[in-house]
Amino acid sequence: MRQYAVIGNPISHSKSPILHNTLFQTLKFPAFYGRYLLTKEEKLAEKIRTLRLSGANITVPFKEAAFRQCDEVRGIAKQIGSVNTIVQEDGRLIGYNTDANGFFSTLKREPRRVLILGAGGTSRAISAILNEHKIPFLVLNRSKARLESFRTLGYKTATHEEFSARFLEDEFDLVINSTSAGLDDNELPLPRELLMLLFKRGRGADAYDVIYGKQTPFLKLANELGAKISDGRMMLLEQAAIASHYFINGAESIMKIREIMLRVYSA
Ligand code: NDP
Repeated sequence: MRQYAVIGNPISHSKSPILHNTLFQTLKFPAFYGRYLLTKEEKLAEKIRTLRLSGANITVPFKEAAFRQCDEVRGIAKQIGSVNTIVQEDGRLIGYNTDANGFFSTLKREPRRVLILGAGGTSRAISAILNEHKIPFLVLNRSKARLESFRTLGYKTATHEEFSARFLEDEFDLVINSTSAGLDDNELPLPRELLMLLFKRGRGADAYDVIYGKQTPFLKLANELGAKISDGRMMLLEQAAIASHYFINGAESIMKIREIMLRVYSA
C-alpha cells in the first residue's frame, strides 16, 4: 500500500488526511494518507525517503525548504519559489505548487484589477497565477523588505505608506488578504481607514481571504461594508484536488476528484 502525508508544523489541525483518504477509498486506490510533524526543515527530503512516502503535501513553514530540496521542480512552482506537493518518481522528488491554480479555480469571475495584501509565499503563488492570466494586480505589504523579490519579477508593489499616497484612487474589484493577520489574532491586514475606503459602498470591490475555518476581522469588516466575501475554504479544497491528481498519476479527472472530496468537506 502506498503512503502519503502532509508535512508541517503545526499539523494536527490539517484537513488534508480526510480529503485524500476519502478519495483513495472511493477510487479503491491502495494508499493511506497521514500527517507528519517536522521540526527540522533540513530533514524534509530525508524524511520523505525514510518514511517511504510516494508523495506529500508540504505546508507552513516548509514550502520554501521543499522547493530547495526537490530533485526537480515543475510548472509554476519554479516561478513562485515554493512547493506544496511532492511526488516520488523513481526515487527522485518532483515538486509542484498547487496553491496557485487552486486559488485561481475558486474565482467566480475573472477580476479586472486585484489588490493583494501581503508578500509572503501565498502572495507569490497568487501573483504568479494572476500574472500568467495577464490580470493586473498590485502587491501591498506592511514592510518593504519582502516586496523586493516581487519587484525583481517586474510586479507592481507598494508599502502601506506608498499606497495611501499613490494608489488609493485605483479601482480594484478584488481585494485579497494573503497575510496571516487574523489567523491567530484579531488584527486587520491594512489600517481600518484604508480598508473602509477600499470597500466603501459603490466602489464594488469583493473581499477574499485565504485564511479558512473562521471569519477574519478583514472579512467581517468587508461584509459590514457590503462587499461580497469568500474565505480560503474552497482554495484548500482545490489545491488538494490538484495535488491528488498528481498522487494518482492522473487516473481520475480533477473535476471528479473535487466532487468526491467535496462530499466529506461539506459534511
Ligand atoms: P508568510 O509567513 O509567508 O507571509 C506572511 C505575510 O503576512 C507577510 O507579508 C507579512 O508582512 C504579513 N503579515 C503578517 N501579519 C500581519 C499583520 N498583522 N498586518 C499586516 N501584514 C501582516 O505566510 P504564508 O503566505 O505562507 O501564509 C499566509 C496565510 O495564507 C496563512 O494564514 C495561511 O494559513 C494561508 N494559506 C491558505 C491556503 C488555503 O489553501 N486556503 C494555502 C496557503 C496558505 P511583513 O512582511 O510585513 O511581515
